[in-house]
Amino acid sequence: MKDPENYAFETRAVRAGQHRTHEGEHSEAIFPTSSFVFENAAQAAARFGGTEPGNIYSRFTNPTVRTFQERLAAMEGGEACIATSSGMSAILSTCMALLKAGDHIVSSRSVFGTTTSLFTNYLTRFGVPVDFVPLPDLEAWEAAIRPETRMLYVESPSNPLTELVDIRALADLARSRGCLLVVDNCFCTPALQLPLALGADIVIHSATKYLDGQGRCVGGAVVGDAERVGKDVFGFLRTGGPTMSPFNAWVFLKGLETLSLRMRAHSENALHLARWLKAHPRVARVHFPGLEDHPQHELAKAQQSGFGGIVSFEVTGGRELAWRVIDATRMLSITANLGDTKSTITHPATTTHGRLTPEQREEQGVGESLIRVAVGLEAITDIQADLARGLDG
Ligand SMILES: *Cc1c(COP(=O)(O)O)cnc(C)c1O
Repeated sequence: MKDPENYAFETRAVRAGQHRTHEGEHSEAIFPTSSFVFENAAQAAARFGGTEPGNIYSRFTNPTVRTFQERLAAMEGGEACIATSSGMSAILSTCMALLKAGDHIVSSRSVFGTTTSLFTNYLTRFGVPVDFVPLPDLEAWEAAIRPETRMLYVESPSNPLTELVDIRALADLARSRGCLLVVDNCFCTPALQLPLALGADIVIHSATKYLDGQGRCVGGAVVGDAERVGKDVFGFLRTGGPTMSPFNAWVFLKGLETLSLRMRAHSENALHLARWLKAHPRVARVHFPGLEDHPQHELAKAQQSGFGGIVSFEVTGGRELAWRVIDATRMLSITANLGDTKSTITHPATTTHGRLTPEQREEQGVGESLIRVAVGLEAITDIQADLARGLDG
């Protein structure tokens, strides 16, 4: 596809990044090859020397992976995208490429648990300390930035309470203090939110979630400008080696083709479910940015083009009722994964947030009565009926 920027988002999702071979295949080809051959010794020398572009070895580049990268870059509005073996290796590669000992990170407190572990258990060992602040609190962000702060790191909306941060305001703050703003766009995907257009420098993805959308493969991606991502993150990838396999890249790039449709359907189902839960007598509180009484509903409407598929709610009966609701389901999958066509249900306090101290959980608002549902694409009537079993019983 020539000039993807001239096409609408949905068109880029289907067409961008395809380079048809001489076989004339309509669907994108998979290239399961570890290395590539050269016409002659001079060409090999030119490729290795970097004077001629082209494939050398699939740890560096692979045509199927490149199609996924070009497509996702076109969707996020970035100059470059580097695909990685997982969402975590996308975060690791970004940090390894762009930080050095002595730099400092400010991260929102409510990021993915393994991201917190990566920062606190590993990056600190290499001389990169991290401080955590409440996601929506711009004053706390500002106060936490030091002269050596190099990176601000967020997920918006957050997991599991669906809090937001004003990305444009945080990007302005980052720029004025000489830091990079990195946004993990896993919950919204580019179908619902474009952090780069809001001023962020880098977008991170766990492709494992909505980009695949069908729970099949683990993968990740980093999107941003040609210098930091195209050169620096790529440089770490080809050296450090957390490369995406061509087969996984193919699964993900086919997933991208239906991303808009799926995200709209996830959002619609989630809004129905949130409204139904809010009216239920055994539900004390519902967290969903699409509800008018969500504290950041107006920000969600301005910053996102949909509200996403994650709904959290607090039942009136503590852990006992929460577990009963989970155990009474017959269809929903009891698993902490999300971003699948299949709805999943989880008790954050004893699973995803189980390793936090009770004080940390309280700080983050993850109580014993909280349940998180990643709303899938089943009929909303069946999802509601499955939750009603435990709530009504
Ligand atoms: C799952 C997830 C990750 C990590 O991705 P993996 O593909 O599991 O490595 C990072 N951030 C968020 C928000 C996630 O949900």
